[in-house]
Amino acid sequence: MNHWQKDRIVAIVDGAAEFDYPMSRFTVAGVGGKVDALCRVRHTAALEDLVVFLTEQHIPYFPLGKGSNVLVTDRGFRGVVIVLEGKLSQVEDLEESRDKVRAGAGLALGKLLDFCRSRGLGGLEFLAGIPGTVGGAIAMNAGAFGCEFGGLTEEVRVVLPGGESKTLKAAELEFSYRSLSLPKGAIITMATMRLRPGEPERIALKISRNLRSRRERQPLGYPSCGSVFKNPSGDFAGRLIEESGLKGRKAGGAMISPKHANFIVNTGGARARDFLRLMELARRTVKERTGIELEPEIRVIG
Ligand SMILES: Cc1cc2nc3c(=O)[nH]c(=O)nc-3n(C[C@H](O)[C@H](O)[C@H](O)COP(=O)(O)OP(=O)(O)OC[C@H]3O[C@@H](n4cnc5c(N)ncnc54)[C@H](O)[C@@H]3O)c2cc1C
Repeated sequence: MNHWQKDRIVAIVDGAAEFDYPMSRFTVAGVGGKVDALCRVRHTAALEDLVVFLTEQHIPYFPLGKGSNVLVTDRGFRGVVIVLEGKLSQVEDLEESRDKVRAGAGLALGKLLDFCRSRGLGGLEFLAGIPGTVGGAIAMNAGAFGCEFGGLTEEVRVVLPGGESKTLKAAELEFSYRSLSLPKGAIITMATMRLRPGEPERIALKISRNLRSRRERQPLGYPSCGSVFKNPSGDFAGRLIEESGLKGRKAGGAMISPKHANFIVNTGGARARDFLRLMELARRTVKERTGIELEPEIRVIG
């Protein structure tokens, strides 16, 4: 990226660009090399201008929420990471509606959940404790306790690489297990979810029950990127890794969690390559023992 390109990017995002940004500072797992630039975009017009500029200049980009389900390699990424903030991370009060919520893609799931609880909107309690954003949860079709985000999503607004904004209705959204098929280069800016009216106290109770269950099962005391592998049909990746005797195995500062074998935790100073070595060990060992090929859930970038 040359000086002129950097200056243009800074102008488009009103100064909110940081160059040679170490992703270990951003991702939940606390690992990852540098990206050429991390841009915080606060409104749709700036996002449209930015993706048009990056597309014209052949500069790769990808959107990031909280970085809770990605592993950026130690070599980093030659391109721009786009983070949505400001107007793109707000929840809209749809006063006329008793069963809908509309939120910016950059909104933290915890804040969305707080809003819904206070308004007596139920259905999203399964998200309690998932450390992501609305955009990340839609892109990953986040789920827990038998519920998935996709099932509640009524429409999604995206910005396409040509700079145009488009609304995709539920029927056009192809959700599958921990995935959504989006047009190439599309960035989700907003989503509308259909919920159920409910008593705030009952919603709060469900949230605290789900949080307790999560604390009991997951190694939340350490940074991680959540479940590393998708569950194979009819089985659990964690069970297969545990039965392969890999709980507690270490590579550098990373460790296959003794509490939940589908989590790799950063015990301090881990590099992305440590995570990748443990992922390969788990994949290979499970394949040799059971013939089952584990598929990564986390997105590896760089
Ligand atoms: C402790 C822990 C527990 C977790 N538990 C669960 C769980 O129970 N269930 C579950 O499903 N997940 C879980 N996760 C994984 C993760 O939190 C979810 O997948 C979350 O929805 C990801 O959100 P994010 O904003 O952090 O996305 P990121 O990790 O930042 O990004 C994930 C993907 O989404 C894309 N993306 C992000 N924002 C946008 C956007 N605006 N437009 C288009 N694409 C976008 C990124 O490019 C990337 O490919 C857990 C993670 C941790 C660390």
